[in-house]
Formats: sequence, structure tokens, C-alpha cells
Amino acid sequence: ALTAGIVGLPNVGKSTLFNAITQAGAESANYPFCTIDPNVGIVEVPDTRLQKLTELVKPKKTIPTAFEFTDIAGIVKGASKGEGLGNQFLSHIRQVDAICHVVRCFQDENITHVSGKVDPISDIETINLELILADLETVSKRLQRVEKLAKQKDKEALAEFDVLSKLKDAFEEEKPARAVEFNEEQQKLVKGLHLLTSKSVLYVANVGEDELLDADSNENVQVVKDFAEKDEAKVIVVSAKVESEIAELDGEEKEEFLQELGIPESGLDQLIKATYQLLGLATYFTAGEQEVRAWTFKKGIKAPQAAGIIHSDFEKGFIRAETVSYDDLVEAGSMQVAKEKGKVRLEGKEYLVKDGDVMHFRFNV
Ligand code: GDP
Repeated sequence: ALTAGIVGLPNVGKSTLFNAITQAGAESANYPFCTIDPNVGIVEVPDTRLQKLTELVKPKKTIPTAFEFTDIAGIVKGASKGEGLGNQFLSHIRQVDAICHVVRCFQDENITHVSGKVDPISDIETINLELILADLETVSKRLQRVEKLAKQKDKEALAEFDVLSKLKDAFEEEKPARAVEFNEEQQKLVKGLHLLTSKSVLYVANVGEDELLDADSNENVQVVKDFAEKDEAKVIVVSAKVESEIAELDGEEKEEFLQELGIPESGLDQLIKATYQLLGLATYFTAGEQEVRAWTFKKGIKAPQAAGIIHSDFEKGFIRAETVSYDDLVEAGSMQVAKEKGKVRLEGKEYLVKDGDVMHFRFNV
């Protein structure tokens, strides 16, 4: 399963945020694919479509879909040289599929800042630089090996030499790999390098609890937004402290508290949705009388693979998928009417599953 890693300098609010994630806690019993690991928190994906489908189908139960955040503690300046938890830290980042970078934007004299003052850009650059240096090392090592072959006019080696040189130049200018443009062929080579700075990033601006309503007047948030724009990255504003309070509440209590705060959606819910996008994930639904359920898939998969997410037998014996889009189903008001209107399609093995598809799989056992 794909996972997003939470990174950030010490004392920026990572643990507070991660605790909110585990406290909001999805029950792992529903999600057997999820890892049982203290550094991994399972989150359910908020999706209003699921409530609507539940109203429509009136199933016995409704199950949202979920994915995982991984807490990656311990980055400090010099990590790429083995400072702090150094290499261990970097190897944990290597295993995640996207990065949520928590940045301290709150002021609090009682909470020490590692570099003495709250300076989000300097913080972001400190971490990004460690990742770039680690990648520079990866690329330099590889370059040494490829260079010889390239000199002998080996065609594949020449192609790789180009890619590696381009990356090296970027790293020396302190740019991440994701900022470098490559053609499709080259992208495959880059992928094979498993670089840290190839991973997509979003920034999480952690503001003080009293700043949540008017976060844009927090100068630190503004500079993070400007920085992120250059990195083509999103910014989610949260107050980790408030999130940890929200996480203790359920259902109605949570709604009331959000209303009191004057915010339509918790920062954590926004973060979950944005991270889901960042990971390239999307949702299809199954809607039967027993159960209405959301399922996570990686964008770009075909119907049999989607069926395989429910059970490997569904994929092996796949015949077809009766499919209706969420919008068509809601407009029709029931599966029966959707069928009568010709909105339920029979899709075969080559069908590319779309976000919001409501699917019923037919398979041989
Ligand atoms: P980590 O080292 O990045 O994991 O940071 P922690 O989550 O342990 O937070 C460091 C300290 O900052 C703790 O004392 C938190 O209570 C505090 N903290 C986290 N978020 C906020 C916030 O939004 N406002 C204030 N005032 N303090 C916060």
C-alpha cells in the first residue's frame, strides 16, 4: 500500500500531528492490508459521496477507504553526512511514496526552535538540502560507473550519462529532481534511481491555535505559500494542537467543535484529501445491500486490477464490471433506474477505472 511520510525539523509539531492521525484512528480490523507499526497511522478518507450512497442504497454497513501516514522522526542538519539519525532517516524516506513536510509557522517562546528563530524557508531548505545531498551522492556514484561505458560509445550508457549529468547539475544548484524536465524514456531511468527528491511533496504549515481562522495574515504562512508555488507544491494550513483536540471527538461533537471554530473542515481532513491526491490515489465504490464501501486504487489501473483489490479471485476470474458513475447513479436515484436509463455500462478487461465509479464485478470462481 502507498504511504506518505511526515517529515520536518524537530519541534515543528510533527508528533502532535501524527498523534492526531493515530487518535482519529481508523480501526485496522477493517483494513487488513495496513501495517501494524507504531510509526504508521491509518486514516480514513473523508468522502461525502459515501454518505450519499448510503442514503441511496441503505446497506447494513458503510466502510470508508483508508491509507497510511508514516512518521519519519529525526532529521537534523547534516543528516546526509550521518548526523543525528542520518542514514536511517534517509532510508525511511526512501520507502515512502510522497512527503508531507511540516513547517513551523507558530510562535511560542516556550518551545525552542532548533535554529533559534521561526524561519520557515530556512527550515524547508535545511531539509530539502539534506535530501538533495543524499541524491547527489547516489547520482555521483552511478555516474562514475556509467562514465567509462559512455566513453566507449555504449548507447544505453550514453543515454543514462545524459540523465545523470542533468540531475547532477540540478543538485549542484540545490534544485530537487522533481524540478528537472525529462522525456518519457529518461523518466524511466530517473525512476530506477529511487531518488528522494523525485517524490511529490506537500507542505503543512503549522500555525498557532488562534491563527487558524485568519492564517493568511500569518507572514510565515505567506512565505511558505510563495515557496511552495515555485516547487509546484500545495500548502495545507493546520494547527497541530487544535487537530489533536479535534481527534478526540467523534461525529457530532466534531461537527459542533468545527462550527465553533468557524471552519468547514478540519485541517487533518484537508491534509488527508490532499495527500491522497498527492499519492495519485482515487476511489471507486461497491454498493450492495450488505455493504457500501469505498476502495482505493492507483490512478491508471484497469478493471481486473481494481477487482483484485477486493479479492485476488475477483481478478483471476474477472469477466466484466457493471459500472455506473457516481453522478449518474445519484441522478437516477437508484440502481434500478440507472439501469433502465442505460447508465450502467458493462466494462471489460481493458476498462480504465475512474474516480467515482460504482462497480459490481462478475467473475468465474
Ligand atoms: P516534533 O518534534 O516536530 O515532533 O514536535 P512536537 O509535535 O513534539 O511539538 C513540539 C512542541 O510544540 C510541543 O510542546 C507541542 O505541544 C508544541 N506545538 C505543536 N504544535 C503547536 C501549535 O500549533 N501551537 C503551539 N503553541 N505549540 C505547538
